[in-house]
Amino acid sequence: METMKALVLTGKQQAEYIDVEKPVCAKDGMILKIEAVGLCGSDVRTYVHGHSKVKYPAIIGHENAGVIVEIGEEVKADWKVGDRVIVNPAIPCGKCYYCTHDDMSGLCEILSVYGNDIPGGFAQYMAIPGVGIEKGQIIRIPDEIDFDEIIIVELLASVIKSQEHMRVSLGDTVVIIGSGPIGCLHAQIAKLRGATKIVMADINQERLSMVGKFGATHLVNSGQEDLVKIVKEITNGRGADVVIVAAPTAEPHQQGLEMLRKEGRLSMFGGLNKDNPWTKLDANLIHYNRLEIHGAYSYSFANFMQGFELVLAGKINKDIVTHKIPLKDMPEGVKLIQAGKAIKVVLKPWME
Ligand SMILES: [Zn+2]
Ligand SMILES: [Zn+2]
Repeated sequence: METMKALVLTGKQQAEYIDVEKPVCAKDGMILKIEAVGLCGSDVRTYVHGHSKVKYPAIIGHENAGVIVEIGEEVKADWKVGDRVIVNPAIPCGKCYYCTHDDMSGLCEILSVYGNDIPGGFAQYMAIPGVGIEKGQIIRIPDEIDFDEIIIVELLASVIKSQEHMRVSLGDTVVIIGSGPIGCLHAQIAKLRGATKIVMADINQERLSMVGKFGATHLVNSGQEDLVKIVKEITNGRGADVVIVAAPTAEPHQQGLEMLRKEGRLSMFGGLNKDNPWTKLDANLIHYNRLEIHGAYSYSFANFMQGFELVLAGKINKDIVTHKIPLKDMPEGVKLIQAGKAIKVVLKPWME
């Protein structure tokens, strides 16, 4: 039996860095040597609180990039050992209602995701099943692009999807609550879509002080300042066109409604802890001001490719990745994120 190192989740807040069996290459699949895997906000939530789809012991990790080291004999497409690739982690079935209607494939009823339904990249190697190749979910990375930089594409794809949904456009005022990696990417995409006032708010001053370069025109410590008042002031009393809650907490939802203009849009981008998913909203504010409330989850293949092209074109500031650490130190990475000392953390399975 060939083995590899992997970071295995064995319970809530329990992770073991151990030797496990190296995955075997399927005839129609391939094996990827993982060079970089993003530590996503959803991974942090899964590690801390568990996840309905993740059964212990589990190898999670869905923001994967690496090198192809084995190719099954039945793989027809033009792949070679040594190709550098990024993996689009969402594998839609291609047949259900959502897969066959407009651009809703990210909501596929039997969507498979690395790290949830199949083993992910918190390991030295990861198996790619045949369906993960035939649907075009493996994308070649040019030599000049770093693995550590490209893994941001998955997060970017969700951000692009949500701003498409929210119709962020020229001259808009966009408020982003939460200045983690998602908040920073929202600021960058809002700027690219032509928003002219981009307010980024956070209660963590240390993190807020790191994010000025990502496109925000106003930075607000919402723990110390009155965010609603500031947003009203900079919009001549009208309110923002769009508010995006990019934090895993319910408190900003109502606050977000209060700072929207009439017919403004609120995005609930951050998922909540599954044991307490409730929020409270003033229904009359929604009613009289004709507000829209948007969920934000997943993305389409097109959004993934848009994100990929933006990274290739240098449109996304690389400084969003603040830490590259060995895979075994994942729990340390979680602490850095929770303390607001890191923006994006990348895990490296081959780093000592
Ligand atoms: Zn992610
Ligand atoms: Zn489907």
